[in-house]
Amino acid sequence: MPEAVLLHPAIDHGIKAGSDNFSGGTLVCHCLDKPVKVKIEGQVVHNHACGCTKCWKPTGAVFSVVAVAPTPKVTVTDNGDKLAIVDPSALILRHACKVCGVHMHGPVERDHAFKGLTFVHTELSRESGWQAPQFAAFVSSVIEGGVNPSRMGGIRGRIRELGLEPYDCLSPPLMDALSTFAAKKSGVLKD
Ligand SMILES: [Zn+2]
Ligand SMILES: [Zn+2]
Repeated sequence: MPEAVLLHPAIDHGIKAGSDNFSGGTLVCHCLDKPVKVKIEGQVVHNHACGCTKCWKPTGAVFSVVAVAPTPKVTVTDNGDKLAIVDPSALILRHACKVCGVHMHGPVERDHAFKGLTFVHTELSRESGWQAPQFAAFVSSVIEGGVNPSRMGGIRGRIRELGLEPYDCLSPPLMDALSTFAAKKSGVLKD
């Protein structure tokens, strides 16, 4: 028996489809006392497994699972005084709970293709119906997180087995959005 390839608890047992008329939910950090709560109105988009070393992941997980919502739809409702920005110089301003370390919301405020979007982890919500993960991003980056390169074949195989495509950057539509933004900014592309 080959060793089981575990990626993230939200997808290791198969990917659960989201629901069409989902109205949103509330993310709750891991603190038992005075948890931080973040309300999201409506559905998220571009939900994906991410192998980068910056996104928050639960203990033992190789990947994070992260999505975006329009920033105006994301509101800190409880105990926001416990939040601090992990890295103020990063594109994604990940706000983590200072006590339990969970990342609660990460807005993009800089002039960028993703400006106006906030990165969130829907696994922190009890509601079900969130968009299912659509792809895996930054897969090769798990090596930077300490995964032995010899495991990559098994990891990419497991991602495909779950029905996701493993990409070493973002998905083609998101990479196209980044390049479109750059091309408009430089002036080579007019509208
Ligand atoms: Zn907390
Ligand atoms: Zn990431």
